[in-house]
Amino acid sequence: MSEAAEAREAFAAWVEEAEEAGRVFGQVLLKATEPGRYALRHVEDAGASRLRLHEDPRRAREISKTTETGEYRPLKSSPNLRRGWELRVDGVVDLSIAMNYLYPAGVVHWHLYRESRLELTSYRENAARQSGIYKRVQRLSDEGVQDTARACCEDAVCLKKTLWDVDEDTPLEMERGEGEIPCPEPCSVFVSLARRVRLFEREKKRDLDAIGLSPSEKDDLAALVETAATGHLEFVREAEFEKPLNERRMRYRRLTLVPKLRPEA
Ligand code: SF4
Repeated sequence: MSEAAEAREAFAAWVEEAEEAGRVFGQVLLKATEPGRYALRHVEDAGASRLRLHEDPRRAREISKTTETGEYRPLKSSPNLRRGWELRVDGVVDLSIAMNYLYPAGVVHWHLYRESRLELTSYRENAARQSGIYKRVQRLSDEGVQDTARACCEDAVCLKKTLWDVDEDTPLEMERGEGEIPCPEPCSVFVSLARRVRLFEREKKRDLDAIGLSPSEKDDLAALVETAATGHLEFVREAEFEKPLNERRMRYRRLTLVPKLRPEA
């Protein structure tokens, strides 16, 4: 049996074993309604009765593509899966097709991790493979990697369990996540934020003002105050790290800028 076939059989058996309670994978609640038939919905719709019903597992692609407000989801493991749907699928192949759209590679990684066969790639190994405009992430400091991981990978912004480390001697120091979906390697969203953080690191060395703030820190503070003053504080898109009001960028600032502003705390 191929790796993928083994994984989908193990996953279906895991769902069936849970009987009426079902299983939660990311934000999806899965139940076996009868042997070989599965029902999937958003976990927060567990008790909902008026959901839009679909029977084609490929509808999961559309469901996972955009948020409730219609924004593209670059990271399928972000906790922003839209609600209001139920998928009923027949057989383990259709179950695995649906899950692959909702959480790409999630089921195979879940299976390999349970069998202690999931291969991990550290940040430094991943960075060594980057080229072009991403090559600069190779020079991100260990501290920068740690702060980027806390800003980008904790459960508040990604439901995967972060398994990789900075390198083989330097573990990540963060809440690695409670969920079922393992993350074996830094993803493209992480690398993109790491690139931005590397730019911040370079800027810090050369451009600090009299009170120790860098130009981008001042830009972020100004954008935050100006937007808050309108009464409508909204984040920009998930992977737009070049813009000040990005949630992960703000999480990074909480780790690195707030201690500068309030050193006594
Ligand atoms: S690298 Fe971080 S943000 Fe990306 S999938 Fe893994 S845990 Fe999530």
